[in-house]
Amino acid sequence: MTRLGVLGWPVAHSRSPAMHNAALASLDMRDWRYQRLPVPPHLFAETTRALAGSGFLGANVTIPHKQAALALAGQASAAARAIGAANTLTFLDDGTITAENTDAPGLIAALGGSPRGMRALVLGAGGSARAAVWALLDAGAREVSIWNRTSERAEALARELGARAVRRAGPADLLVNCTSVGLEEGFGGRGVERSATEREALNQLGLTFDQVGEYANVADLVYRSQPTPLLAAAGAHGARTLDGVEILVAQGALSFELWTGRKAPVAVMARAAREADPAA
Ligand code: NAP
Repeated sequence: MTRLGVLGWPVAHSRSPAMHNAALASLDMRDWRYQRLPVPPHLFAETTRALAGSGFLGANVTIPHKQAALALAGQASAAARAIGAANTLTFLDDGTITAENTDAPGLIAALGGSPRGMRALVLGAGGSARAAVWALLDAGAREVSIWNRTSERAEALARELGARAVRRAGPADLLVNCTSVGLEEGFGGRGVERSATEREALNQLGLTFDQVGEYANVADLVYRSQPTPLLAAAGAHGARTLDGVEILVAQGALSFELWTGRKAPVAVMARAAREADPAA
């Protein structure tokens, strides 16, 4: 049995097991399994080292372990080092742990076209914003601006990666939400209630409904059963939208190919990730 998994805390709601097991099944890889690996931070290093000797070929890494994963690895890609975080570990036969970050190329792949020459506005300054800003600049975006609720964090990230921190959302060709705003299924409801909660979510992102209409391309890393308030507003304005499940699938497909050397069955993975929705 060749084992894969996802290390996180908590990890109960991860859609990665459903997505990867569907991919393995569709390629008839019967002696492979992908499982949840709930590991608290104080046990991360010890548990991850032990996986290597327990039939595990690799693991995805999610909140809150992405930085610890990079620190633990004996080898890391240039992208993982520049981003300062890894979401994909591979355990080599000689005991070496290698680290990669597929969140960054996953976002670019999910965009479906190169952001070269575009102006991008990234909302957020946490771990996923870091990967997104790096990925967009690396892929040739003309300018990347960062807005964050805590402006000092946007300024620090912008300084470090060569982007521009902004206090107010300005014009851009592409808007990418990398905050957790919109995650709660409570945003939604019906009629007046729904529009009020969506307005509140947009306010938390420093935007109004009308302002969202200024962005032709809008991506949201958050995924949930209904469209997020940001994507609902962008869709109402006729923007091209990209949701968090598509981004999840794109990073997962790259991890899958790294471990298995097989072409990832992306459509199978996307269907499984959507069907794995705990609220569906
Ligand atoms: P993180 O490091 O904890 O950063 C959270 C970010 O959200 C910070 O910028 C924070 O701003 C902002 N934020 C949180 N609550 C807010 C509020 N009420 N109003 C305004 N801003 C708020 O998290 P992360 O790892 O970057 O992940 C962010 C989201 O992306 C999560 O929902 C995660 O599930 C999702 N994600 C999706 C994928 C995918 O494949 N689709 C991959 C990675 C992450 P402050 O700095 O002001 O606190």
